[in-house]
Parts: sequence; C-alpha cells; structure tokens
Amino acid sequence: MNLYEYQGIKILKYFSIHVPEGIIATSPEESVKAAKILFKKTNKKSLVIKAQIHAGGRGKSGGIQLIKSLDEAYEVSKNILGKYLITPQTSKKGILVKKILISEDVYYNNNPKEYYISISLNRNIGKNVIIYSQEGGINIEDLSKNNPKKIQLEEIDPILGLQFFQVRKIGFNLGINEKTSMSLFKNFLFSLNKAYNFYDILLLEINPFIKTHNNKIIPIDVKITLDKNADFRRKKNFFLVDVSNDNNKENKDNNSFFHKENQINFIKLDGNVGCMVNGAGLAMATMDMIKSCGGHPANFLDIGGSADKKRVNKSFSLILNDYSVKIILINIFGGIVRCDIVAKGIIESYFKINKSINIPLIVRLQGTNEKFARKILQSSKLPIHYVNTLKDASDMIKKILL
Ligand code: GDP
Ligand code: MN
Repeated sequence: MNLYEYQGIKILKYFSIHVPEGIIATSPEESVKAAKILFKKTNKKSLVIKAQIHAGGRGKSGGIQLIKSLDEAYEVSKNILGKYLITPQTSKKGILVKKILISEDVYYNNNPKEYYISISLNRNIGKNVIIYSQEGGINIEDLSKNNPKKIQLEEIDPILGLQFFQVRKIGFNLGINEKTSMSLFKNFLFSLNKAYNFYDILLLEINPFIKTHNNKIIPIDVKITLDKNADFRRKKNFFLVDVSNDNNKENKDNNSFFHKENQINFIKLDGNVGCMVNGAGLAMATMDMIKSCGGHPANFLDIGGSADKKRVNKSFSLILNDYSVKIILINIFGGIVRCDIVAKGIIESYFKINKSINIPLIVRLQGTNEKFARKILQSSKLPIHYVNTLKDASDMIKKILL
C-alpha cells in the first residue's frame, strides 16, 4: 500500500527529521487559510502547492506550483483540486486530485542541491539496501539507464543493522560537508532507517532531499510503500497516519485495489476483454493469452484460491462497471474451489444483475467437479460459451472479436 507524500512527511517528522512546514487542504478556501498561516510562520514570500496523488512526475506536469499570494493560493488550488492530473507516471486519464499540500518553499533563497536516497528490500539478496545518488530530483529509473555510475548502493546487514561507518561513507560519497552537515546527515539517515523498520516499509524513497545554504538536510518528496503482510502488526501502533480509509478509497478511484472483505485483487486496464481468474499466475497467463489472440485485457482480476459465490458476484459487478468490456472470460481452476460452486455463482450473478450481462461470456472451469459445473451451466440455458482449454477460449475470443 502506498502512502501519500503528506503522510510520509508526517512519519519522518515523528522520527525527528526536519521536514518542510505544511498543511493539507481539500478546497481552495482551506488552501487560503493554510497559506495565510504558513506565510506567517515561515516568513517567506512564496509557498509551494503540491497535488497529493500516488504518482511522481508532478513537477513536470503542473502538479507542483509556486504561489506568492493568497489570491494565487486560491487560483492555483482551484485549478488543481478536483481535476485529473496526468504525469509521466500516471495513466493517460490521470489521477483525480482530492488533496493538496500547502508547503513551505524550502528552495526559497537557497538554490539547493538535490540528492536521491532510498531504502528498500532487495529480495534477491535478502537484505535492505540503501540506494543513493548526487543526482536527485530526476527519475531514478532514467538515471539508472542513462548514467548508472551516478547511483550507489549500500547493503544493510540484517543482524548488525545500519552501521555508523556506512552512514559516513554514504555521506562522503554524496559530498556532504564533513564539518557542517555530516552530523545532520547522520541523524537524517539513521532516522530514515528507524522509520523504515518501525513501520515495516518496503520502499522509503526520498527524491529529492536537499542541503540548504545553512547546511540543513531536508526531505522534499517522500514515497512510502508499506508491506501489506505487516498490516496486523502495524494496527497496534499506527497512531500516526490513518492509512486505511483514505488510501483504499484512492486506490479504488485509481481502479486498482485489494478488496479486503472479498479477497479480490483488481487492477483496471485499458482493454476490451474482462477476465475473472483464480490465482495471480493463472490471471497473468490468461491476460497473455488474451493479448496473443488479438484481444486486450480490460483488467487483472484474481478472485483468490477459494473463490465462492460472493466473490464471483462481486467480480462480475466490477467487470460490468466497465463499459469498454466486450467479452467476459472466466477462467477458473478448481483446486480448492469447486467448479460447481463457481458455476452457481455465475448463474446467481446473472439473475442478480438482472440479466444485463448482454455481452458474450466465455467460461472455462477445470478441476474439481467440472462435469457437474458444466451440467449446471448448460441446463441454465444462459448464453454461455463453455470451453475446455485456453486454446478453445482464445479461438472463441478471436471469433467474437472479428
Ligand atoms: P515529483 O515531481 O512528483 O517527484 O515532486 P517533487 O516533490 O519531487 O518535486 C519536483 C520538483 O519540484 C523539485 O525537484 C523541485 O524542483 C520542485 N519543488 C519541490 N518542492 C519545492 C519547494 O518547496 N520550492 C520550490 N521552489 N520548488 C520545489
Ligand atoms: Mn520527486
């Protein structure tokens, strides 16, 4: 699960990191109020307004704007809020901006140098690693392609933890001034590491952080991805940021979410063939198959290993919400789940949705009780194309699409 920038900043602040002053707003009026407070508090002639979305590249796309007056705060907020922001990291449609962060302009009178640093889990070596660069502010993926030598890496030993000498080495490599900034940098990095561990974070990326003219180290942009497997552990001490509601809603708008209650994993895509599959691997194979026969998957949907009627129902409504879907393909392997239960779920959905499923439905049910399932579907007299193999499914898609 991803956190918003403002939530990430809140966490860093809790770990004693010096962060820009900021106030969140959801309307132009709130934004003006916030700006008033911040102009006074920071004593600077400008502030920065930052769209809060789960994607970067905002700077290049109008999602980050400097303001110099309350009028400007109003105008800029009005232009950003409630609109879809398209950045190089979003879909073509963009992401709806519901919140903006009014923030201290830490670049003011500074012209600071921008650095990159992140802590993340490298599963290949089973260690957390710190990736860092003097070339901050730009997309790290681009940097690693065009100038990989500018990126450096430090592994954290899982038993020893982050060591003092490592922090100094990173500081030196970044060209942090030993006399003036090293001890601040040391606090900064140890705090980042502490936050990373405390919150069971998978990716903590600061791009950029800056060193100001008076040698302060300040994070500007914070991206945090939490490890979902640690949700239960976090619940107890997640007193800082309420991530649950907010982020789930956003993810829904973003058309990709994990539906907790029904255990459904859904990612909206641009295509025309809606698919309902159990198991992420089979779902991906199914999407590949759809592509190779000339269709385009309209979604990724994994209804989980033990799919039941309720999940089939929910999945149908998700797929049918999408008007670009021209065909639905259900591909279920009956391992734990029984095919006859899925078949009943399909029929039930048909009637629940009031027979508005007027697009072709291709069904492949293989495994436990498949014969029984076929019988159920065939005797229902519903317009269902029952197929045995993925090849048959692919031929059917081709036939319908052409
Ligand atoms: P991203 O584009 O979504 O990654 O957003 P960032 O927060 O990383 O900001 C992108 C760029 O906006 C930075 O590299 C800066 O050039 C600029 N920026 C961000 N915060 C400030 C600020 O407080 N003041 C000024 N003047 N520029 C800022
Ligand atoms: Mn950034």
